[in-house]
Amino acid sequence: MNELLKKSAAEQSKALRNKEVSAVELTNATINKIKEIDEKLGAFNSLTEETALETAKKVDEKIAKGEELPLLAGIPLALKDNMNLIGSKTTASSKILENFVSPYNATVTQKLLNNLVPIVGKTNLDEFAMGSSNENSAFKKVHNPWNLNKVPGGSSGGSAASVAACEATLALGSDTGGSIRLPASFCGIVGMKPTYGKVSRYGLIAFASSLDQIGPFSRTVEDAANLLEVISGYDSHDSTSLNLPVEHYSQSLNNDIKGMKIGVVKELMGEGVSPCVQKAIENAIETYKKLGAEIVEVSLPKIKYSIGIYYILATAECSSNLARFDGVRYGHRTANPENLLDMYCKSRAEGFGDEVKRRIMLGTYALSSGYYDAYYKKAQQMRRLVTDEFVEAFKNVDALIGPTCPNTAFDLGSRAEDPLAMYLTDIATISSNLAGIPAISVPAGFDVDGMPIGLQIMAPQLAEAKLFNIAYRFEQANDFYKSLAPDLCACCK
Ligand code: GLN
Repeated sequence: MNELLKKSAAEQSKALRNKEVSAVELTNATINKIKEIDEKLGAFNSLTEETALETAKKVDEKIAKGEELPLLAGIPLALKDNMNLIGSKTTASSKILENFVSPYNATVTQKLLNNLVPIVGKTNLDEFAMGSSNENSAFKKVHNPWNLNKVPGGSSGGSAASVAACEATLALGSDTGGSIRLPASFCGIVGMKPTYGKVSRYGLIAFASSLDQIGPFSRTVEDAANLLEVISGYDSHDSTSLNLPVEHYSQSLNNDIKGMKIGVVKELMGEGVSPCVQKAIENAIETYKKLGAEIVEVSLPKIKYSIGIYYILATAECSSNLARFDGVRYGHRTANPENLLDMYCKSRAEGFGDEVKRRIMLGTYALSSGYYDAYYKKAQQMRRLVTDEFVEAFKNVDALIGPTCPNTAFDLGSRAEDPLAMYLTDIATISSNLAGIPAISVPAGFDVDGMPIGLQIMAPQLAEAKLFNIAYRFEQANDFYKSLAPDLCACCK
């Protein structure tokens, strides 16, 4: 059974359909694995065993009746703990929401349930998805399954670690500035952020609404493509949702990429990039040449401003989004306040962690009168220029590539006291959120210490099919995705 847990969703689906294993057995094995090893990883905030088994039973009933199974039916999935699942806690890894129980399902959750995907638990994250290492969780740290002394990346660190450690076959994360792709790269798996508007955010706890997107984690590109198919589509509950037909990405995964033009982003290579990462990306370039693609260098000079732009816009938006957590409408309320204002102040002071407070203060400042024009408005204008630069670049190339992060996973604690160093981790991922374009991180090798490296591929808005195609051809031309994190068992340290 442990071997089956290491297989892709596509392979597990086959085993289910061939009746080699039942969905209940697969779900139970997954939950038992979490129970066995998660104390070491810290990937899960809570388990949703009952819901998962209920769904798995329905899958087995369908199989017994010989009925057609929906895509990904019976495949165990982990849900980032900032998405609602009725009856389960949705904490956003924050003390302020420690006891918040979802009163309704997020649209993505409902879509998963409709497809009979067993949701096994809620995964740990940086508080309110703010962070790059998962060290900002109010509850516990997540450890990287490749080396327990290293961070898994953030903010969807629990989702990434759970898939890398085979505690789940699939997971969902949210990506505001790289929170799916960065942890995917640090944990040696696939993570993808769709075009802004592809996936409904209804029922996702908002961080920065003009940037947030939900996306898939998996161990193969094919699985990510199928999971995106399941969760995407128009939703009238999210005003930014795009009214476009759902695509079947798996059909074009294996298309020939001969003659495609792939741009290497000059500013994301060279200086500041660790030698191992640089080498891995150069190898990826060679792979693409062998596959018949034409490689060109593309310069995106404004990309260097993206960290500054992002940390003004994201903090501004979060200061407004998080105003609702006031101890009245949602969340923790302080005991014995002196008056209303005291109640607001103490509830928020007790409920939010340091990073969240820092962001609320930065964002409030950027939006305040007198500073709005100098910071927020300027950042908006610069965001447009960065976006234009991408639009221009995509007139000449089919996709852009570079590292997902200039370095591999760092030691737990090594950047925790230096917010700026932490923010710089996002240099390669943030610009695709600013531009609203789809981007994916695919395993592309290992550094000298055996830590995974991610190749990032970016494509024009709504070019998901092409993005998956280009990613799949790279994946299949190499063996990196076949290496899994070392088995963690109850006895190992
Ligand atoms: N690391 C970035 C931040 O801290 C991105 C977070 C995210 O994508 N949710 O804001």
